[in-house]
Amino acid sequence: MPDTGYELIIEGGTVIDGSGAQRRNADIGISGDKISAVGDLKQATAQNRLDASNRIVAPGFIDVHTHDDHALLAKPDMAYKASQGVATVVAGNCGISLAPLRFKGDRPPPPMDLLGDGYRFPKMADFFTALDETPPALNAALLCGHTTLRVGAMDDLQRGATDDEIDVMRKNLAEALEAGAIGMSTGLYYPPAKPAPTDEVIRLAELLGPEGALYTTHLRDEGAHLQEAMEEAFEIGRASGAKVVLSHHKSAGASNFGGTVESLALLDKVRQEQDVTLDVYPYDAASTVLSVDRVKDSRRVIVTWSEARPDVAGRDLADIAEEMDCSLEEAAEALLPAGAIYFLMDEADVQRVLQYPHAMVASDGLPHDIFPHPRLWGTFPRVLGHYSRDLGLLTLEDAVYRMSGLPAAEFGLTGRGVIAEGNYADIVVFDAETVIDKADFATPTEPAAGIDTVFVNGKAVWRDGAPTGERPGKALRRQELQAAAKP
Ligand SMILES: [Zn+2]
Repeated sequence: MPDTGYELIIEGGTVIDGSGAQRRNADIGISGDKISAVGDLKQATAQNRLDASNRIVAPGFIDVHTHDDHALLAKPDMAYKASQGVATVVAGNCGISLAPLRFKGDRPPPPMDLLGDGYRFPKMADFFTALDETPPALNAALLCGHTTLRVGAMDDLQRGATDDEIDVMRKNLAEALEAGAIGMSTGLYYPPAKPAPTDEVIRLAELLGPEGALYTTHLRDEGAHLQEAMEEAFEIGRASGAKVVLSHHKSAGASNFGGTVESLALLDKVRQEQDVTLDVYPYDAASTVLSVDRVKDSRRVIVTWSEARPDVAGRDLADIAEEMDCSLEEAAEALLPAGAIYFLMDEADVQRVLQYPHAMVASDGLPHDIFPHPRLWGTFPRVLGHYSRDLGLLTLEDAVYRMSGLPAAEFGLTGRGVIAEGNYADIVVFDAETVIDKADFATPTEPAAGIDTVFVNGKAVWRDGAPTGERPGKALRRQELQAAAKP
């Protein structure tokens, strides 16, 4: 113990350490940005003490599936995540990353517009520098998006890339990895990436394996051809030597309900031979850009934003169509470019994936939407309160593990995700009796209940229902994470 005592002791709490271990009573001593002691610290001196009696003390959550790239700079208090207990986000998912790209046109093609208008970093290193210079409240790790690479290298996105274009993409991906990106993401489902053959992705992903970088993917198909799309992802993983993360795993569309029985069985089989895992958000509705095709697969569609009709954000597409006296498809067409929430999953599938022992909880929240899917503000408290406490679907220890220790291990976020001496002081203090999501499909930006205090690198970023204004977040670079992992 240092002579001056700890800067802060969180005392009297019940520690769920994020490793999956049973809860235990312990105090936590914090000095600087690190946890310097875990145990009985009643006799220790401290500059500050936080009474955590009747509270759970857990690692700050890690949201491995986000589209927070631009929001890290534009909304640096990250209230929608900090309010849930999140300390670290992984941005650049689904093939769309803010860097490396300086976009010169009018507006980038959907779904790149989900990130807002901040495409001004021709190199990933420039984005890292911006985060270093104006840090957000939370830590961030970055993926490099395949769609972003395509837009930066190709004039025509309706075909596979030529050899020359692949060379440019490889050069840009190499720069992103060199700058500290932890991997590459794809969004092969979306029009700007769909024409890319598997081989194009492999030729890029080849750069990942040797660097210990990972491959995350919004699969080419999450409906009738889910298993084929999974096989493609596995093939890319095998050819590149990279770990594969299947993003927001689901079986979409009424005719595919129950599909996760087979998809998870397939995953179990493949996991015996290669490194594959998945993340999931706890809702039976998806959200992304509005697409006319997707409307027919959904039992209900809510508009989240519309360039053509900003006034309809938050309204049901069915009501808008009735008002316009046209079909759902025609109404959707008239709103473009736009975003939407699609009710197209079965709750049984959602619960099955949440219970899958290797599933990480992640939000996929869209921070620039006018009327966002409630997952943006509710994901983590919803799993803790609704699925763990109220439904008993998983123990609280297991729920916390899927939000902290597991994602830290899968994404190589060394020093985070577990409460242990020497780790970074990313910590959430919450009330297990009252924690619950308050954001829903009618009021999607309500902060959750029951999250008391959130620390990032030893500094409180969320307290008493509001951001503190502190911005201790760090941009996490792969090389530093890998070096710190070596014994
Ligand atoms: Zn996605």
